[in-house]
Order: sequence, then C-alpha cells, then structure tokens
Amino acid sequence: MASIFRTLADLWSLVVGLGITGKQFCKPGVTVHYPRAEVTPEAAASFRGPIELIGLDKDPAKPKCIACMLCVSACPSNCIAVTRAPTPKPTPEELKAMAEAEARGEKPKKPAPPKAPGTWTYDFSLCSLCGSCVEVCPVDSIGFSRDIYMVGTKREDFVFDQLARLARKAAARKAVPKAEAKAAPEAAPPPAPASSESGAPGTATPASEA
Ligand code: SF4
Ligand code: SF4
Repeated sequence: MASIFRTLADLWSLVVGLGITGKQFCKPGVTVHYPRAEVTPEAAASFRGPIELIGLDKDPAKPKCIACMLCVSACPSNCIAVTRAPTPKPTPEELKAMAEAEARGEKPKKPAPPKAPGTWTYDFSLCSLCGSCVEVCPVDSIGFSRDIYMVGTKREDFVFDQLARLARKAAARKAVPKAEAKAAPEAAPPPAPASSESGAPGTATPASEA
C-alpha cells in the first residue's frame, strides 16, 4: 500500500513539473534572435555592460567624479586606475597673497588641488561586473553602460580611457537631436538611434554608445 502512495506522489510531482514546463512553453519568448533581431533599449535595461562615468548635469562631458579613489580601493580586480587633476598654477593675485603671507611670517595658502580626475582608466578585460565600484562611489559617478555590442582584436582594446569615452558619448547624445530635427521635415524620426563610434586607439568599438 505504501508503495502505491509513493508512486502516486511521484506521478503527481511529474504532473506538476510538466504543468510548469507547459506554462513556460506557452509564454512569449524573451530571447532575442540576434543578428536577425536587434536588442531593444527596453530589453537591455537590466543589462550590465562595462562601467562608465556619469557626467555632470550642467556639463555631461565632465564626470561627477571627485577623485576620492574609493572605487580604486573597492575594486577586487584592480581594473580601475584614477589620478587626480594637477593643481593649477597660482594666479598673480594668489602669488602676491602668498608672498605677503610669507613676509608676515604666516604659512602661505597654496591653491587647493581640484576635486576632479586627471585620468580615469578602466580595464574591462579584468572586470567581473561585481558592482562594488558603483556602490561605493559617494557621488554616483559610476554606472553600468548598456553597451552590448563591442568588438576588439586584442585585450588592450578593452582598456578604456573613461574621460574620453564620456566626452564622446556626450558629444554623440548632443548630435542626435540635431540630426533628428534636420530629418523631421522629410520623414518621421528614426527609432532610438545608436550613435556609433569609430574605433579610437585603446578602445573596443561599441556598435552603440547611446
Ligand atoms: S564592477 Fe567590480 S570588478 Fe568591475 S571595475 Fe567595478 S569593482 Fe572592479
Ligand atoms: S568615480 Fe566615484 S569612487 Fe571613483 S574616484 Fe571618482 S568619486 Fe571616487
């Protein structure tokens, strides 16, 4: 008798499993049949592409980064390298004030170094996309890009100068509305454009840097 109940329980679990499979089978597919179909921005919304810098609201070509180096310390793969922007030379007024302070026997106040990066390099070939740098950044200057299509022929192609990349993306975003406005009288604007970037030295070529 016990073996009959066990068999019935096993059969029931088989029916439940087949039910789940059947339900999923009838749902519309979410797989994109690339290259016959392109991944839409909506489908890529949750995609974690190589990290990128986020620009300032008032000047999107300049990063929010304050060169605090927290992301460098947090990265477990050592794929981020940041240097601070050089301290600007003192202006004639500042030089005068410093000389006067020295003459008074006080400590001259030198110009403070800018809170901005001088270089910001990222090696995507080492990155595990763990997100530690994104989480630790105190000014939300790092995010995951939606760059799905990237091509390179050597590892160095995936070492990004993030400041240059940010500037290129900002310029591309600026250019898109102008192109759309120009095309408007003749035809409806094209669907969500993917601004392409020609392969710059030391960078892989993303098919889209929108
Ligand atoms: S996502 Fe992780 S591995 Fe990649 S750069 Fe950020 S901290 Fe490093
Ligand atoms: S990106 Fe963020 S965490 Fe990294 S140096 Fe800049 S401000 Fe600091």
